[in-house]
Amino acid sequence: MTNRIGEDEKGNSKPKRLQKLRASIAEKELDALLISQPENLRYLSGFTDSTGWLFISGRNAILATDFIRLEQAKVESPGCEIIKIRQELHDWLPGLVYDLGWHKLAFEANLISYDGYHKLSEAIKTKQINLELVPTTGMVERLRSIKEPEELRFITKAVELADAVFEQAKAMIRPGITEKEIAWEIEKNLRQKGSEGIPFDIIVASGPNAALPHARPAEKTIRSGEPVLIDMGARIGGYCSDLSRTLFSGRANKTFQEIYNIVLKAQTAAIERIESGMDASQADKLSRSVIEQVGYGDAFGHGLGHGVGLAVHEFPRLGLNSSDSLSDGMVFTIEPGIYLAGQGGVRIEDMVTLENGKARVLTRASK
Ligand code: ZN
Repeated sequence: MTNRIGEDEKGNSKPKRLQKLRASIAEKELDALLISQPENLRYLSGFTDSTGWLFISGRNAILATDFIRLEQAKVESPGCEIIKIRQELHDWLPGLVYDLGWHKLAFEANLISYDGYHKLSEAIKTKQINLELVPTTGMVERLRSIKEPEELRFITKAVELADAVFEQAKAMIRPGITEKEIAWEIEKNLRQKGSEGIPFDIIVASGPNAALPHARPAEKTIRSGEPVLIDMGARIGGYCSDLSRTLFSGRANKTFQEIYNIVLKAQTAAIERIESGMDASQADKLSRSVIEQVGYGDAFGHGLGHGVGLAVHEFPRLGLNSSDSLSDGMVFTIEPGIYLAGQGGVRIEDMVTLENGKARVLTRASK
């Protein structure tokens, strides 16, 4: 059980990721970290199934999975020692940890259930093993927030795919067509053009439905002049894109013409002024202040954006209460919105990456 991941892998960025993670494991004076969050698993080991347990210590990278996924794990995670497990975590973990001589094992606090933690603690006690379980959050997610060039290439492809499918969808929007029909066309086109499934349920929300930031497509037909909010994304090589646009079939009514221009102005302000080193809460204010100035502050009820990568929502979080700060290499959305209950809403969402201290816009879909 002393395989060292990395040295034999050519052109693979995983050893570098492990190196960084191992540095933070050492810094926290932990013996090892147990990872079960699916995107974190994939990021560190290459394993694409959502069920597995990855242990990273200074020396080891051990992937534990069941019979069904064993061969897949061997193929996808050649840098890891693969072990087959049969029962639940608390049945086999104490023995494994005892054999490895670990005394301080960190785990992802947001992934292990209360019940799972309770059973594990009991098993450790019963077996009289000297092991402390240390809850952690965000250790791998923080690494994931800074993208490597290879990751950015996948993200860019996913953005281009969503852009192309959006332009097709735009041509479909006419009075009489339903939200569901548009959403299904978008989904079909995304998959036909090579998206690996869809990273999240597509939103097509028209008229009053557009006032709900996360509306579900309904049988409702599009009416002339009302806003149609579309939120969609693609997935390539595991990496996601996220795109929102608000369109009008025919001429937008006056209120929504005005709102559209405010949202666009708020988004442009953030794109132009966001800088590396800035607090994510400060970035949020760049857009929010534009919306507040014209009295719509209460109608912008969500954060400015979120990181995008293997997950569609990841670090950093751009919002009033975020404690994240922005750095070069991050990829995130900038998506201010204004929602008026009973009337409709406007959201415009682009993806950007921070390069040389400034935001470079990845999204090309027309506004
Ligand atoms: Zn988004």
